[in-house]
Amino acid sequence: MKAWKKLHADRPANTAGGESRRPVPIMIILILAASLSFPVSQAAAAESRRVEAGTGDVFELRYRQLQPGEPLLVIWTSSVSDYAGIFFGESSHWLKKGDSGRQFLVLGLDVMLKPGERVLEVELWSGGQLAEKLTVNLEVAGRDFPRKKLTVDQKYVTPPREVLARIKRESELLALVYSTSSPDWLAEGPFVLPCEGNLYPNFGQQRIYNNVPRSVHTGVDIAVPAGHPIAATNSGRVALASDLYYSGKTVVIDHGLGLFSSYSHLSKLLVKRGEMVKTGQVVGLAGSTGLSTGPHLHWAVRVYEARIDPLSLLELGF
Ligand SMILES: [Zn+2]
Repeated sequence: MKAWKKLHADRPANTAGGESRRPVPIMIILILAASLSFPVSQAAAAESRRVEAGTGDVFELRYRQLQPGEPLLVIWTSSVSDYAGIFFGESSHWLKKGDSGRQFLVLGLDVMLKPGERVLEVELWSGGQLAEKLTVNLEVAGRDFPRKKLTVDQKYVTPPREVLARIKRESELLALVYSTSSPDWLAEGPFVLPCEGNLYPNFGQQRIYNNVPRSVHTGVDIAVPAGHPIAATNSGRVALASDLYYSGKTVVIDHGLGLFSSYSHLSKLLVKRGEMVKTGQVVGLAGSTGLSTGPHLHWAVRVYEARIDPLSLLELGF
């Protein structure tokens, strides 16, 4: 594992203008919050790297593994600098020192991210001046996801022409939902499982439907009987509660600052878009609507566009 190091040289030219030409965009997402009681606990399963800058600012980077489908928390405790600029891949974010002097952001490594070295750069600004520049090299490891053959109704493998417009409309709707998040952190305390049941840790599984290789499975499945209550993993605002072609009756909750959770294949929706929900509140009943082979909950989490393993939320010490 490479350590944090100071970077005294100017930013390399190839990180300034060439980013947009990367063939595979790195989906990096930001959660920024000030004055939060975060983190409240150090999860045993998470790794942590820590660096103290010459300015006295302290950064902690916390993650389960540096792999596709994983979130990284960056926690900044500032004693001197007013702003920290975080540059990672195509994204840049600015953390402003809050009253507590402590802020965090979440970076999402999308499930389809290619392995390889990524550089996280941090600029510390104080009194309008660049005080220090740090870099950390992150070696994103490869990850072998299992493959699974499934037999489903052919209309989901080759959708009939009359539903193509619906599929396109719903795909645009979802893109819009995941692009707009509350500027305030709406989650409170630890994340919880949405239901008790037989949990399949099948995040990232390569799905082969009716012998046709299809999409990657971007959530985990929890087998529960039809009608079983499904609860919100944390508090937030309902960003979507609709019946969709592929995911059936679906609820999406915006937890703020880019973090979303979704609950699919429900038999009944019990919340409406715009409604505020609390951790553990029942948002719907389990079912098998949409592309589903039996009653279960499909639980998924995103940090904006980046699709990450929902179980990671239970281990990172929120
Ligand atoms: Zn699923």
